[in-house]
Amino acid sequence: MANAVFEKYDAIVRKHEKLILEAERYIFNNPELGFKEYKTTAYLAEKFRELGYELTMAEGITGFYTDIDTGRPGPKVLIFGELDAIICAEHPFADKETGAAHSCGHNCQCAALLGIAAALKTPGALDGLSGSFRLCAVPAEELLETDFREEIRQKGIVKYYGGKVEYMWRGYFDGCDIAFMVHTMNSNTMNDYGIYMKKGSNGCVNKSIKYKGVSAHAGAAPNRGVNAFYAATLGVQAVNALRETMVDGEYARVHPIMTSGGQMVNAIPSEAVMEAHVRGASNAIIKKVNDKVNRAFAAAAASIGAKVEIHDRPGYSPVENDDTMLEIGHRVAPMCADPDNIKYNPARGGGCSDIGDVQTIMPAFHPYVTGATGRSHGNDYMITNPDSACVFSAVFQLVYLHELLKDDAAEAKRVIANYTPVYKTREEYFNAIDEFFKDKEAVIYNENGTVKLDYK
Ligand SMILES: [Zn+2]
Ligand SMILES: [Zn+2]
Repeated sequence: MANAVFEKYDAIVRKHEKLILEAERYIFNNPELGFKEYKTTAYLAEKFRELGYELTMAEGITGFYTDIDTGRPGPKVLIFGELDAIICAEHPFADKETGAAHSCGHNCQCAALLGIAAALKTPGALDGLSGSFRLCAVPAEELLETDFREEIRQKGIVKYYGGKVEYMWRGYFDGCDIAFMVHTMNSNTMNDYGIYMKKGSNGCVNKSIKYKGVSAHAGAAPNRGVNAFYAATLGVQAVNALRETMVDGEYARVHPIMTSGGQMVNAIPSEAVMEAHVRGASNAIIKKVNDKVNRAFAAAAASIGAKVEIHDRPGYSPVENDDTMLEIGHRVAPMCADPDNIKYNPARGGGCSDIGDVQTIMPAFHPYVTGATGRSHGNDYMITNPDSACVFSAVFQLVYLHELLKDDAAEAKRVIANYTPVYKTREEYFNAIDEFFKDKEAVIYNENGTVKLDYK
């Protein structure tokens, strides 16, 4: 690679190769789920402190952040490494007890963040840059384990299920002007050392649906029961029958799982519990589809005399990568990667990330770097080229940051000037997402024999 800026940061990062690759392996081999990333937080905190950083540990939950200043005034850039794994118990490297596995490659994000931290402490790395950095090891990007998240919410430990949303709520990103992170990607359709960018992806609402029936002997007296499991399966069928009403271009997705469907086989199940996400391209679309989904879940319960509790929680805001940051991405990527190995997708992705929430109050960019193989969130996902997924990723990020903060941070200032926030203030943003909170007993049986659905 002939580019001088790339070569400068490549040389700096490669001095810390061992530190980066050891972190990748340690975290991969110790996968932990959101808000439980204790070992990962401790490991990274120790390494950051050895590099001379003073950390602000998140109070009562996992993760931390730390600042590093160039000594010259300018914008503050927030850089993320996500700490959490997903649940994929059949993954060969899954944690035997929890089923956690790094099938989304967040371990590489953390290793790259550590590499960036080490690089920024290397003499000469900050030369010519203005402004400052906040490096943030952030928990709980994956939206899962609804019961656990609700438990810690009820205890007042968190208010929101997503790590970045919670950190925003706590004010941990106050004073930051621009956010940036690189996600790991599989090399199925690209080669290693590739860079992938896209315009945006979905947002979502997180749902817990509890069907309640009446238990009775399943052989001797099923007529005395109300089968909550059947009610739940009717709910799934009703939602499936809605799919043809979903509009092309709105990117609606609904995908429930059942987490319990009865206690023993010789009793009519009195409870069946599902979790679901409703995703869509905007909060208005998510609300519209979610109302229909809740009506379907409620009507299914009413059809056989069961009840259903619907518990909705704010999920993530749609991802909208900042146009100016994307434009800079198109300029920086060819400084780092083979032009044939850079891809841009203008279409919307179906997944979600809480970087979308960050993007509602500051410009942010979330590209991808290759180095993994297999299916994301699947049991064959492996980091087959950690040098690409971690070391190269750190170099690419530093070249991008250099572009933002060189020349008196001219490009960072341009990004900020061009940006129109979705919400003017943090408070306005939280008021908007708080509209997704909902706890409903959605079927009411009246004494006169009529049934009312109360799902809105
Ligand atoms: Zn993921
Ligand atoms: Zn991910």
